[in-house]
Amino acid sequence: MSFNPFSHCRKQYGVSIWQCPGFLFFVMGIVNIASIFATYFVAQKYTEPETVILIVMGVSAFIFVISQIITGTFAKLAETNKMKTEFLSVVSHQLLTPLSSEKWLLNMLIGQKIGPVNPEQKEYLELLKSNSDKAIKLINDLLNISRIEEERMMFDKKPFNISEAIKEVFSEQTPTAHAAKISLQLTDETDGKIMAIGDEEKVKIVIENFIGNAIKYTKENGQIVVILRKEDDNIKLSVADNGVGIPENEKSLIFQKFFRSGNAKRYQTMGSGIGLYISKYMIEKLGGKIGFESEEEKGSVFWFTLPIKS
Ligand code: ADP
Repeated sequence: MSFNPFSHCRKQYGVSIWQCPGFLFFVMGIVNIASIFATYFVAQKYTEPETVILIVMGVSAFIFVISQIITGTFAKLAETNKMKTEFLSVVSHQLLTPLSSEKWLLNMLIGQKIGPVNPEQKEYLELLKSNSDKAIKLINDLLNISRIEEERMMFDKKPFNISEAIKEVFSEQTPTAHAAKISLQLTDETDGKIMAIGDEEKVKIVIENFIGNAIKYTKENGQIVVILRKEDDNIKLSVADNGVGIPENEKSLIFQKFFRSGNAKRYQTMGSGIGLYISKYMIEKLGGKIGFESEEEKGSVFWFTLPIKS
């Protein structure tokens, strides 16, 4: 595979090669080394200190100009990044309002609160609602990304009943699993009374991501098992599936923002690569651990742990 610094700078940062920090550092390194040798040889040839001083001043001026360009590029990149985060946040908020009222209206129509609907109409309305739920989830994920980038995600950390939280998400996801002809089971190995310490709403988002992914990346007639168990002073939730799995060479990238594995993209076009990035951030901020084991074509187990109230 050939590395082309010109297209890399354009694609990665959207700047020309003469504004590209990596390339400029490289040039500065070469200039530094060359100037050491040049000063040595010139100093040997011309013994007058004025000449040597002039050369050293020339090289220093050159390095000063390059460092000014590098600083300017970093400032520009930081500013653009800030503008992008703000834009993301504004657009997401603007989109959320009409989508939420659309969802409310669809619920009214499906619940026949406005007037009777026949079974065929109801089916179409359910389809619309499912698409609107997906759009709302994506927008909430984007909002969470801006909150993470601007370090303003708030956590309401307190004890909550983890079995109840799982049951809630589990029953919400069961119809989707059944529609995809996938069996979804829950095994709660605790007494159902354990109080985990965390932010219940955030933890539910993580469970929703794990179960949602397991459904998305498991083929028809597949199986998903959600297990809750106590391990020392922690509670561990695992979601195991026998789906498409993750290729060995992509495992290290799974929690990166916007990353989607090659086989997942081929199997399932819908996806943003945001869910696991957000999940990792949330669980780690709550003092837990997150991870997975997976084998391509065999399946995956995604898990997280949280401390429990003693
Ligand atoms: P999305 O599912 O929207 O692409 P996520 O951040 O939730 O984004 O997941 C990132 C990637 O991790 C997925 O695109 C997929 O490659 C991989 N992945 C996550 N869960 C599973 C799973 N249960 N089985 C196989 N691959 C998975």
